[in-house]
Amino acid sequence: MEHKLWIDGKWQDSKGGKMMSIEDPTTGNKIAEVVDASREDVDRAVQAAKVAFYDGRWSKKTPADRSKAIWKLADIIEANMEAIAKLESENTGKPYAFVSLGGDIPFAVDNLRFFASAARDTHGSHAGEYMSGYTSMYRREPVGVVGQVAPWNYPFMMAAWKIGPALAAGCTIVLKPAPGTPLTTLMLGEFVKEAGIPDGVVNIVTGGNDTGQAIVEHPDVRMVSLTGSTGTGKKIMKTAADTLKRVHLELGGKAPFIVFDDSDPELVAAKASMAAFLNTGQDCTAATRLYVEKSKLKVMQEAVVEAMKNVKVGLPFEDGVQMGPLISGVQKERVAGFVERAKAAGAKILTGGGTPKGFDKGYFFEPTVIGNVKQDSEIVQQEVFGPVITVQEFTDEADALSKGNDVLYGLAASIFTRDIGRAMRLSSELEFGTVWVNDHLPLTSETPHGGFKQSGFGKDLSAEAIGDYQITKHVMIAQS
Ligand code: NAD
Repeated sequence: MEHKLWIDGKWQDSKGGKMMSIEDPTTGNKIAEVVDASREDVDRAVQAAKVAFYDGRWSKKTPADRSKAIWKLADIIEANMEAIAKLESENTGKPYAFVSLGGDIPFAVDNLRFFASAARDTHGSHAGEYMSGYTSMYRREPVGVVGQVAPWNYPFMMAAWKIGPALAAGCTIVLKPAPGTPLTTLMLGEFVKEAGIPDGVVNIVTGGNDTGQAIVEHPDVRMVSLTGSTGTGKKIMKTAADTLKRVHLELGGKAPFIVFDDSDPELVAAKASMAAFLNTGQDCTAATRLYVEKSKLKVMQEAVVEAMKNVKVGLPFEDGVQMGPLISGVQKERVAGFVERAKAAGAKILTGGGTPKGFDKGYFFEPTVIGNVKQDSEIVQQEVFGPVITVQEFTDEADALSKGNDVLYGLAASIFTRDIGRAMRLSSELEFGTVWVNDHLPLTSETPHGGFKQSGFGKDLSAEAIGDYQITKHVMIAQS
C-alpha cells in the first residue's frame, strides 16, 4: 500500500519527495511505501500549521472545547485499538499482546485522556501589584507551531505522548514519525479529523533524517520536540540554534539496576530480565547495567541468566510470545557489533549473544547476559538498544552509587533494597530523571518522564509536559 502526506486535514501528494519502502522486521519483506517528504512538503505542512495557529481555530478555543476534542480522539483510538495494534505489530514485530490490551495503545489512550483533562487548567493564575499603581498578570500562551520528531521503538505511543501536551497547550503540530515505522502514526490523521480537531492543527509528514532536519531548520517552527538518540539530539540542538528555537529532547538511556543483598534474587531476577528484554531491549529506560552486591552476585547472575534463557522469542501473533525481532538489519548489526567487541575485550557471554535458532529470517537476536565487564568498557558505557544486559558486582552503597552514575546518560535507574534509609539516600543521589525503588519500568500518564545529563531535558507525560509547550507572557496594566 502507498501512503500520502497528511497536511491541512487531507491526504496530499508529495512535491519533489521520493517513495521509501517499509518492511516487516520478522521477514525483511516490504509491506508498504511512504513518502520521503521533501523540503517543499515540510514547508507546506508548516504553513498549514502556521495558518491554523494564527487564526486561532485551536489556540483560541476554550480549554473545555480543546479538552472535549482530545478526549474524543482518545475514544476513537480506543474504538480502533485492534486495527492499530495489528498494524503496529506488523510494522515493528512487537508481540501483539504487548501492543494491544494492557500495552502501548491503551497507554496512548490513557495519555490522551490525561492531557484532555489537564487541558482544562493550563493558563496558570497570577495577578498582583508589584509596582504601586500597576497590576501584573502572567499569561501562559502556546509556543506556536511545533515540530515533533519521533523514534521507532514505540511509534504510536510516542506520537500520542508528543501530540497530547502540545494540543492541550494550544499549539499546532508538524509530526514526523521515524523513517521505518510511520504506518500507525499515519492513521492518526483521520482520527484527529473525526475528533473535530480543526484542519491544519496536526500535520503528519513521513520521511528520513533530512525531512526531520528541514523541520528543525524551518524559521516558522517555534519549538522542536525530539524523542531519539543522544547523537540526533545534539545535531538538532545545534541546528535549532540558528533560528533560536526551543528544543525538548527525550534522548538515550543506560539504566542501572542496583540490587542489594537484602533483596530476593528470584523475584528481582524476573524483574531484571523483563526490564532488559521488553520491546527487544529497544527501550530508553531498559535495564542495561545490573549491579549486584558482592555476596549475592553468583546467585543473582544465575537467576538472571535462567530468566533470559526462558524468554519466549517469536512472531508477533503467536501465543505466549514475549519478544520479537529488532527493528531492522542495521539495528541487528549494531547490537551484534557491541556484543562482538565486548567479547574481544574479554567479556563473557553468559547466555545469548547471537541469532536464536530457527530465526534466520528477519532481525531476531537472543536475550543476552554479559559478565566479566569493566566499568569503562564500551558495552557498559554506550547505549546498545537491544536485549542485552551486563552484570557487575559492587562492594557497598558508595560503590553502587558511583558505578550507577558513571555514564553520560541519566534517564532512569532502579534500586532494590528493603532498607528505606538506603533507598531514600540513593534515590536522591542517583542522577536520573526517574528512580524506581524495588521495581523497574512502570510509567504513568501523571508522572514526569525525562532525562538528566545527556539523556536530554524537558518532560514527557504529566502536567509538566504541557508547560514545555507554553511560554509565559507578563502583562502589566497601569491602573490610572
Ligand atoms: P534516531 O535519533 O535515529 O531518530 C529519531 C528521529 O529523529 C527519527 O524520526 C529520525 O528520522 C529523526 N532525525 C534523525 N536525524 C535528524 C536530524 N538531523 N534532524 C531532525 N531529525 C532527525 O533515534 P531512533 O533510532 O529512531 O530511536 C532510538 C533512540 O531513541 C534511542 O537512543 C532511545 O534511547 C531514544 N528514545 C528515548 C526516549 C526517551 O523518552 N528519552 C524514548 C524512546 C526512545
